[in-house]
Amino acid sequence: MFRKLSLFCLSLAALCVLALPAALAQTAALPSTVYIKAGHLFDATSDQLRDNMVLVVEGERIAKVAPAAQIDIPAGAVVVDLSQAWVLPGLIDCHTHLEGRADKYDPINEVKFTPFQGGFNGVVNAAKTLQAGFTSVRDVGSQPFFAVDLRRAIDEGFIPGPRVVASGPPISITGGHGDMNGFAPGVQNMMYPAERDFSLADGPEEVRHQVREQIKYGVDVIKLHATGGVLSAGDKPGAEQLTYEEMKMAVDEAHRTGRKVAAHAHGTQGIKDAVRAGVDSIEHGSLIDQEGIDMMKAHGTYLDADIYNDDYILGKAIEFGLPKEMVDKEKTVGRLQRENFAKAVAAGVKISFGTDAGVYPHGDNAKQFHYMVKFGMTPAGAIRAATSSAADLIDRAADVGTLEAGKYADLIAVIANPLDRIEVLEHVAFVMKGGKVYKDETGAAKTAK
Ligand SMILES: [Zn+2]
Repeated sequence: MFRKLSLFCLSLAALCVLALPAALAQTAALPSTVYIKAGHLFDATSDQLRDNMVLVVEGERIAKVAPAAQIDIPAGAVVVDLSQAWVLPGLIDCHTHLEGRADKYDPINEVKFTPFQGGFNGVVNAAKTLQAGFTSVRDVGSQPFFAVDLRRAIDEGFIPGPRVVASGPPISITGGHGDMNGFAPGVQNMMYPAERDFSLADGPEEVRHQVREQIKYGVDVIKLHATGGVLSAGDKPGAEQLTYEEMKMAVDEAHRTGRKVAAHAHGTQGIKDAVRAGVDSIEHGSLIDQEGIDMMKAHGTYLDADIYNDDYILGKAIEFGLPKEMVDKEKTVGRLQRENFAKAVAAGVKISFGTDAGVYPHGDNAKQFHYMVKFGMTPAGAIRAATSSAADLIDRAADVGTLEAGKYADLIAVIANPLDRIEVLEHVAFVMKGGKVYKDETGAAKTAK
């Protein structure tokens, strides 16, 4: 989704933390070595559960994972007892907009909001996302350079939230999905007009410049708008926007610096040109055909398809002022997207978990699991899309995505078997990130003395 919202402001963010409910702001710091008893462990290195396991956490990271029978827990050691629970890696959403709110759809807001609104939103949304069990996100589109600042504030421990892999504003053509369309020529809402908000570019050389500028200001990933979109005025989701040559330039510049590229692409031809240009993920992928599916398989491109939020867009979003033009687009695109997702899954395309949170309320991210299983994935496959595969896509596989020695102690627990009923992931009972407990409805951390 989003083209415009807001800039992050540290001083305002601080006020907002004070106003958060205690449960959101609270963190329980544990001693440096902690033993976690996992009754049922899905470590995401395979599709299997293992019973009666112990994870030894030292500081922020996992030191060891082994069957309980092989680990002597010393007398007096700190134990987090999740022996009645199902323990999984912290979840990863590869397509979020933490600056966005899902109750502000009227396009007039594009010229009413100041940048501070997005800062407030980001503080609250980051906390909600973490409480929902998502310990890492890739944020793929916000005003310059909200996501970079949010990443820093969370990494500093200033506010609670998931680890953030940050993009800058999506790079879009003039009049495209990322532009502010449909207003009179004199109506402007740009923070950096001389740089066209580090977003608009026409021709390969302008794309090169925007990619280099974004890297200069600290982004981890480049987001492109390959085709039109649903939640934008005056453009068609199926129409190609950035050309192959423009996308190839972006990919070459980004990959040269070790950064990945995500391409928003609904339209059939735009998907193929983005894949051919070498992007690392196709976002949405709604109108993909068999040739596009075959190309994604051949290139190893991830499909990051937001197949839950159709429900919200065609329900609540209409109440919140979504214009009829966008409702009509969603009605056409949403159904096809789910059918084509099923075809891509059946063909063996690599799938990652990305929801477009911000289009729907942050914290409801896990509602997408139901649809991923309904449209062809196994529960284990859907979980791995949000753990090991997601970590691969966001280039953080050395740190997150599985529960193994050396990785961050980012883990969640639920009180029923998600392989039997995937929807239990909508009710995460325990959240640890980097060895710190951020949520505990199980009482397990109370045993940690
Ligand atoms: Zn989006």
